Amino acid sequence: MPGTIDLRSDTITKPTPAMRDAMSRAPVGDDVLGDDPTVIELERRTAEILGKEAAVYMPSGTMTNQVAIRCHTEPGDEILCDANAHSYLYECGGPAAISGATCRLLAGVRGIFTAHDVVAALRPANVHYPRTRLVCVENTHNRGGGSIWPLGQIGEVAQVAREANLKMHLDGARLWNASVASGAPERQYAKHFDSVSVCFSKGLGAPVGSALAGAAEFIDKARRFRKMLGGGMRQAGIIAAGALYALEHHRQRLAEDHANAKRLAEGISKLSGIDLDPALVETNIVILRVMSMPPEKLAAKLKGEGVLILAIGPDKIRAVTNLMVTEQDIDEALRVFRKVVSS
Ligand SMILES: *Cc1c(COP(=O)(O)O)cnc(C)c1O
Repeated sequence: MPGTIDLRSDTITKPTPAMRDAMSRAPVGDDVLGDDPTVIELERRTAEILGKEAAVYMPSGTMTNQVAIRCHTEPGDEILCDANAHSYLYECGGPAAISGATCRLLAGVRGIFTAHDVVAALRPANVHYPRTRLVCVENTHNRGGGSIWPLGQIGEVAQVAREANLKMHLDGARLWNASVASGAPERQYAKHFDSVSVCFSKGLGAPVGSALAGAAEFIDKARRFRKMLGGGMRQAGIIAAGALYALEHHRQRLAEDHANAKRLAEGISKLSGIDLDPALVETNIVILRVMSMPPEKLAAKLKGEGVLILAIGPDKIRAVTNLMVTEQDIDEALRVFRKVVSS
């Protein structure tokens, strides 16, 4: 739709002309045979940024998360994660279907739980219990409103996990946002984890793909499960080139998305009938509570004025700033919000 301001997600971005140019020129080969130079370079560069030995490119973040869980667990095992974790809530029951694993849900605050929460969930050695194997952390946290895990708290969780012989997986679909906002390089977060998933198709603006990074032996295992799930792609260099371009050119600009989210949140928080604390908006996601009407109704009214957002619960909507949205768009979106909410 021309003239619309699309705040539904940071997945709606389209490749820029420079990105398309890089994609059109990418050298390619059969990646399942290990022959695609662009995929090889993307995996090398991703591993380098994350401070890991190796990485493997996959079609989606759902696949990187579920392959990681499959690698870390056996049927009957248990995973600890936040109750609102993407890998639990939004991946079609993948842990149960693909790994035969159960999820034990922790009550984090905006998706962020503590070392104490992990310790409280540990089970004594006993033949009756499932074997707890893995702790999953999501940073930034999607349902938590783009919240950033404090590095110290990740360190504490990692320490108790290590003491209990649990592996650590990071769902870092938006790790790039956490790094830009906090100033801590990605590898500082990644060092606490055995496996790290990152998305190129969210804020970075590439059309397709995610990567899973970790130790070389772990990534070899992940490649087998990627193939098993149908994620072995052939001349994937075409799309990997978009991801590689995004990695080099679109990370620092995420600060613009964060400034736009803050601007939007500050404007919306002044409206009556809406509950939103702009101080809680740390990255590119704005979640607000609508008290004056059902969220679907607000979404429909906004859409009528060219502003797209998502209703995400009985009283909540989500707006996500992204590469396609300018500061002027935010001001226009605010004008529409004011009009629609006061009508
Ligand atoms: C988007 C997202 C994913 C992966 O989603 P895909 O659409 O499968 O690429 C994983 N984790 C989080 C937190 C996400 O927001």
